[in-house]
Amino acid sequence: DSSLTVKKLAEKLEVEPNSLMQELIGLGIMATINQELDEDTIEVIADEYGYEVTTEPEEEIKEEDLGLNELVQDIEDNPEDLQDRPAVVTVMGHVDHGKTTLLDVIRKANVTASEAGGITQHIGAYQANINGDKLTFLDTPGHEAFTSMRARGAQATDITILIVAADDGVMPQTVEAINHAQAAEVPIIVAINKIDRHNAQPERVKQELTEYGLVPEEWGGDTICVPISALKKENIDGLLEMVTLVAEMEELKANPDRPANGVIVEAELDKGRGAVATVLVQNGTLKIGDSIVAGLSHGRVRAMIDDQGERIEEAGPSTPVEVLGFNSVPQAGDLLQVLEDEKEVRNLAEDRQSKKRQQDLGQKQTVSLDDLFEQI
Ligand code: GDP
Ligand code: MG
Repeated sequence: DSSLTVKKLAEKLEVEPNSLMQELIGLGIMATINQELDEDTIEVIADEYGYEVTTEPEEEIKEEDLGLNELVQDIEDNPEDLQDRPAVVTVMGHVDHGKTTLLDVIRKANVTASEAGGITQHIGAYQANINGDKLTFLDTPGHEAFTSMRARGAQATDITILIVAADDGVMPQTVEAINHAQAAEVPIIVAINKIDRHNAQPERVKQELTEYGLVPEEWGGDTICVPISALKKENIDGLLEMVTLVAEMEELKANPDRPANGVIVEAELDKGRGAVATVLVQNGTLKIGDSIVAGLSHGRVRAMIDDQGERIEEAGPSTPVEVLGFNSVPQAGDLLQVLEDEKEVRNLAEDRQSKKRQQDLGQKQTVSLDDLFEQI
């Protein structure tokens, strides 16, 4: 029933029709270029060229199925070892609603004099002190932080600030952000921004939010809405106070006295320093000299630099830190873990690399019958 001409099959297999016809002759089939071949013949020919013909529709193999990013040491912590840790906060919202402005305002209020001088490079996350409480802000685009990290099974956010411009209202990416946060069961605090604008309509924003299940506290719901102006630095303290309040209710804990695990927030190849990764430590304490693995990369922690540009020896739970010492650049969202020694992390990374190679090869070499026939 299913058939394919010699010409089409040659195209599919990326070989010359002449070469294919030679193969057919080898099988005792004298075929012309427009002759139709049956399924069995196609299978034999495809096999000759190193393709495996599958009858199942191809399913994309997901990274988690390959185990390229799983924690090999997922130690359970004893409750008595757990200590309070800072909340990790992301800012999400529609483009131009003020994410960058807000993150910059909070960041600048928390930099030391040396950094204010512009010596330090910007890292993808920072900590802020709010009346003695610490909050960790992921300074990456919120959607990316969610999508790439969640795709790899990492949950890096404890609280989301949903920023909505009061002059624009709920927009598509606002809804997307709400969906992400709700799917991850992350509490949302709404910052109604740009209240300095003459056409600001904060009440309309609240009304629109109710359509997505976010009912403001003042209307009897449980969504905290804080009017702010990121540009004029108005009521930023009020917003951060609410964030610390929600953080307290979350009772976030971790065990600092164990080997660290965490997530890669961003990473790049630096000309002078090699692979540089911004890591959010999620549990345990990361130390200089630790043997680390993240995705397909491994190494030893050679140096760590905090969000103030200072070299540090140790980084505890919820601390964002720049890590030097990876042998290659890990991907944002990769899970970082510390193992016993350099041999262990190398073995794990190499094992993952070979699995990945096999997968890549496998995908190139298989061609499904459905695929072969769909273009007849
Ligand atoms: P992002 O795309 O969400 O990161 O938005 P930005 O922070 O880049 O802000 C987009 C524009 O809105 C910029 O021109 C900001 O200066 C402006 N903006 C941000 N916050 C406020 C605010 O509170 N009031 C006013 N009037 N403009 C703001
Ligand atoms: Mg921005």
